[in-house]
Amino acid sequence: MEREKRKKDDISLYFEDKEFIANTYVMKCFTVTMGIYVTAFVLNVLNIFIIDAGVMRQGFFPSLVIYLLTFFMTKTVSLSNPKVKYVLFFSLILVLTTMGVSITYHVVLGALLPFLCATLYSSRGVMRYVYTLTVLSTILIVYGGYYYGLCDANMALLTTGRMKDYVDNGQFVLTQVNTNPHISLLLFFVIPRCLIYIAYMEVCSSIFKVVSGSLEKAKLTEELEKAKTEAENANRAKSQFLAKMSHEIRTPLNAVLGMNEMILQESETKNIQEYASDVKNSSMMLLNIINDILDSSKIESGRMELVPVDYELGGILNDLYNMIAFKAQERKLELVFDIDTAMPRGFHGDDKRIRQVLLNLLTNAVKYTNKGTVTLHLSYKALGEYGALRFSVIDTGIGIREEDIGKIYDEFQRFDMSRNRHVEGTGLGMNIARQFLKLMGSELKIKSEYGKGSEFSFELIQKVVNTKPLGDFRRKSGLPEEKKNFDFTAPEVKILVVDDNRMNIKVFQGILKHTRMQISEAISGMECLELLEQQEFDLVFLDHMMPGMDGIETLHRMQEKKLCEHTPVIMCTANAILGDREKYLAEGCQDFLTKPIMPEQLDKMLRQYLPDKLVPVKEETRL
Ligand code: ADP
Repeated sequence: MEREKRKKDDISLYFEDKEFIANTYVMKCFTVTMGIYVTAFVLNVLNIFIIDAGVMRQGFFPSLVIYLLTFFMTKTVSLSNPKVKYVLFFSLILVLTTMGVSITYHVVLGALLPFLCATLYSSRGVMRYVYTLTVLSTILIVYGGYYYGLCDANMALLTTGRMKDYVDNGQFVLTQVNTNPHISLLLFFVIPRCLIYIAYMEVCSSIFKVVSGSLEKAKLTEELEKAKTEAENANRAKSQFLAKMSHEIRTPLNAVLGMNEMILQESETKNIQEYASDVKNSSMMLLNIINDILDSSKIESGRMELVPVDYELGGILNDLYNMIAFKAQERKLELVFDIDTAMPRGFHGDDKRIRQVLLNLLTNAVKYTNKGTVTLHLSYKALGEYGALRFSVIDTGIGIREEDIGKIYDEFQRFDMSRNRHVEGTGLGMNIARQFLKLMGSELKIKSEYGKGSEFSFELIQKVVNTKPLGDFRRKSGLPEEKKNFDFTAPEVKILVVDDNRMNIKVFQGILKHTRMQISEAISGMECLELLEQQEFDLVFLDHMMPGMDGIETLHRMQEKKLCEHTPVIMCTANAILGDREKYLAEGCQDFLTKPIMPEQLDKMLRQYLPDKLVPVKEETRL
C-alpha cells in the first residue's frame, strides 16, 4: 500500500515537472497546425482550392474536433495526472488503427505526437524535433492532398495508374511545377509519410524510455525496499540477540561479582583477597566489553541519545583520576592532570558520555604506553554563558603509524598486533568515543608519531551553570580517600528484593549482610504483591525480567492497588540495552539499577532512598 502510494507520488512529481513544458509546446503545435487547416478551409470556401467533399468529411471536420478536444484537455486537465498520459496514448493507438490512412491520421499525429512527447518525455529538443516533423508533413500532405487527392486515396495512389487518372482529370494546379507522378508521389506521399513515421518512432522510443525507465525504477525501488526490510529485520534480530545475550551474560556475572564481593568483605586471608580481587578485575573487564558492544550496537541503530544534566566537572575529573591513577601506577607511568583551575565548576551536558570518552582515551593512553607520562590537559575559554572546554590526552607511548590513523575508528580494528597482543581490547573504544563526540557536536583530533607518542584532543561547548572556580578538583570533590560502602547498620530497615533468580537474592543478602537490614525475598511478581499487602517496606528492589508477570507489570499492579505510595521502587535489570533510565522512570519507578549490582551503586541508592534518620547520607550523594 505504502509502496504503491510512493510510486504514484514519484510519477506525479515526474509529470508535474514536465507540465509547464508540455502545455506550452502543445499550444504552439496546436496553433500552427490548426492555422494550416483553417487557411486551407478558407481557401476552399473562397473557391480558390476545391476540396473534395469526402476529404472534408474524413479529414477536416474530425481533425477540428480532435484539435478542440486537445485544446480543451490542455486547458482543463492537469498533465501531472498520469491517467491523462494513458488516455492520450490509447486514443492515439485507437485513432491509428481505426482511421488508417485518412487525412485525420496526420492531423491526429500532428496534434497528438508532440503532446505525447511533451507528456512522456522531458527533452525540449525531442519536442521541437517531433513538432517540426509533424507540422512539415502536415503541410505537405494537406498541400498534396488537396491538389492531388493523395491523402484521400493514398493507398490506391501507390499505383501510378490511379495517379495518372488524377492527372488526366485535370485537378492539378501544380502541373507546371511537376507533372511527373512519381515525383508527386515522393513529395506528397512518401516524404511526409516518412517524416510522420520518424516522429512516430521518436514518440515510441520516448514511451519506451519512460516506461522502461519507470519499470526499472519501480524494480529498483522494490529491490531496495526488500533489502531495507531485510536489513531492518537483521538489525532487529541483532538487537534482540544482543539484548538477550547481555541479559544472559550479566545474570551469572551478577552472581560472580556479588559472591566475590562477599569473599572480599569476609576473607581475612591475604591470598584469598588477592585472588578475589583478580576475579573482580577480570569480571569488570568482561562487563566493560559487554557494555562496549551494547553501546556500539545502540549507536549503530541510532538509539543512542544524550541525556544532558547539570554536572560538576570536579567530580568527573576526580573519578577519572582515581580510576586511571591505579592503572598508571601498575605500569609505572606518571599520570598528570593539568587542569585550568580558574575555569567554572558546573556545566550542563551529558556528563556520563564525557566521562566515558575521557575514560576511553586515558585507558588507551595508559594501555599503549610502556614508559613515560600520560597527561590530561584541560583548558577553558569563556564564550558568554557558554564555555569551550578543550581536552587533550597526551602520552609518550608506542604511537600509531600514519597509515593506520585513518583506520582507527573502524570497529574491531586494532593495530600492531605483534606488539599489542598482550594488551586487552576489542577495537570498539575509539569508534564509540568518536560517535559520542559527534552526538555532542564535537570531533576527535588525533596526532601521533610512531614510536614517540600520541595526542587525542577534542573541544566541547557547554553551558556554564556554576561560575565558581573549579579549584583543586581532587580536594574539592573530597573523594580520593576510600570511603567504605555499607559502613552503617540499620536493623530496623525493611527491604524487599523481588527476583526469580535465587542467586541474585543471595547476592543482595550477602552484600548487605553487614548493614543488618531486614531483607525479605519474593521470587515472582505475584509473591511480591502478596508480601506488600501484608506489610510495609522501606524500599523495594524489583527485577524487570521475570517469567509470568514481569517487573513493569508488577509495578503497575502495585500502583493500581496503591501498595507503593510511600515505598520507593528500584527496578533492577540485567538487560542494559533496554535499560534506559527514562523508560523506567516513565513507568513510575524511582530509579533503576543495572546488574551486575555494583556495591557502590547499591550503597548510593540506599543512602538516597532510605530515610536519613535510618541511613547516613554520604557527602558526595548530597552534592
Ligand atoms: P582497543 O580496545 O583495542 O584499545 P580502541 O578502539 O580503543 O580499541 O583503539 C583502536 C586501536 O587504536 C588500538 O587497538 C590501538 O592499536 C590504537 N590506539 C588507540 N589509542 C592509542 C594510543 N594512545 N597509542 C597508541 N595506539 C593507540
